[in-house]
Amino acid sequence: MSEKSSNTEKLLKIKKRAVECIDCNFSQTRKNVVFGSGDPESKLVVIAEGPSAADNHTSFPFSGPAGNMLDEVFAANELTRADIWLTNIIKCRAADQQQNGLKNRLPKIEEIKACAKWLDNELTIIKPFVILCLGSPAAKTLIHSSFKITGERGIWFTETRYSPFAMATYNPAYVLRQEGDDFMTLRSLIIEDISKAKQKLADVNEYEKTTLF
Ligand code: SF4
Repeated sequence: MSEKSSNTEKLLKIKKRAVECIDCNFSQTRKNVVFGSGDPESKLVVIAEGPSAADNHTSFPFSGPAGNMLDEVFAANELTRADIWLTNIIKCRAADQQQNGLKNRLPKIEEIKACAKWLDNELTIIKPFVILCLGSPAAKTLIHSSFKITGERGIWFTETRYSPFAMATYNPAYVLRQEGDDFMTLRSLIIEDISKAKQKLADVNEYEKTTLF
């Protein structure tokens, strides 16, 4: 079995279990579990906080307006979703049922802990060289617990739990809520950070080639 089909098979098995998960309260309000998607063999994994309302309906990560922006900032670097593995810390939309319907809320510590096994499985199978976190909740989970996006975005962290290299940038969902110059500045920074991640991946690939023998 090739490495690629092996990763595909393994991730499919994990996904089959994850889509039936009822290990926290979000199982009662979700429409779909949103598992990671993309290239199971990619050495670049992009990780955000959790599914949006649109994702909850489609079962795919970044399927709404933030997803359109994510596609644009990847395209600016000549990348597509097919080149990366795209996933979230938690797999169900973090929302409570209220009078007017579902309302987003931050996940509680116990909900994040209950869901950690799915991301752990994904990253253990894929073994990324580079992790790019979208937003501080992902960076706090994957890089260090007191991560501050304003001061630490775009900076490489090495030998993190799941990858030799990890960095964080802004979440497109956050950038979409900005206006005017702020919007343009933050959008440019995401493009710049994706470029750095792409270059790091190329550097690692080159290093591996030169150390094969
Ligand atoms: S958020 Fe995670 S732990 Fe909670 S029900 Fe969904 S998959 Fe299971």
